[in-house]
Amino acid sequence: MGVNLGIHGGVVLTTCKRKLMKRKGFLIDMDGVIYKGKEPIPGAIQFINKLKSENIPFLFLTNNSQKTGRDVCYKLKRLGFDVEVKDIFTCGLATARYLANTKPNGSAYVIGEGGLITELHQHGYSIVDDNPDYVVIGEGRTIMLESVDKAVNMVMNGAKLIATNLDPNCPVDGGKYRAGCGAFVAMIEFATGKKAFSVGKPSPIMMRMARKTLQLTTDETIMIGDTMETDILGAGTMGFTTILTLSGVAKKENLNDYGYSPDYIINSINDLLNEDFFAQIMDRKKLLVA
Ligand SMILES: [Mg+2]
Repeated sequence: MGVNLGIHGGVVLTTCKRKLMKRKGFLIDMDGVIYKGKEPIPGAIQFINKLKSENIPFLFLTNNSQKTGRDVCYKLKRLGFDVEVKDIFTCGLATARYLANTKPNGSAYVIGEGGLITELHQHGYSIVDDNPDYVVIGEGRTIMLESVDKAVNMVMNGAKLIATNLDPNCPVDGGKYRAGCGAFVAMIEFATGKKAFSVGKPSPIMMRMARKTLQLTTDETIMIGDTMETDILGAGTMGFTTILTLSGVAKKENLNDYGYSPDYIINSINDLLNEDFFAQIMDRKKLLVA
């Protein structure tokens, strides 16, 4: 097995170098990108399988804090996606990590559901009904005015107001919407005159945490999302490559309303199965202002 190091060594080196240069990873929004309602978007399962088979790192990002990563993973598996709990990054997890870093073993009064409460507990937080360090607002379908009043009083008495995200609304089945976390946060902000600090997309807190979870650099990170105000704004501000898919909330005819633009626009994630287009994205070098 003689090896001509003079030639082959050089070839191997060049190949390794090229592989290193092509190292990229994906942050992927879920609703409107990989599924819609209870149906996977055509091509999404194949795209995730492609990333896995090519060892390309990816992480699903969601601004919904109702469910834990485990619950979300279960849902995705039922839809046919080959994923693990570690592949899911919720704004509930981002919020819990952020608070645990800022004030370890603190206390929180939570308006939200199981996902958020579980993440806070797992990060050393106590959930309290009185005199908390933080009032944390997440998604919830069972929000009562009584708990909003409680939160208002706590914030007025010095508790810091944290939002898992500021989404004004969320699309639901049948082309309808429901009020989002931001709508409830706005109610408390208006009542108290204090501004919430938000951790979810487009906050750099969640975007940076997601990138670091995949151990990528800024120009190695690619975000695929369907919402200009969160996915594309958050990732674009961080300097990530941005891909807007038109399979969800964003409409092509409205893109001129924004002062910022995605790097790529696709009809759906299915377009990324085109090998030439995929290679173009993976080879892209972002020109960043130093
Ligand atoms: Mg979405």
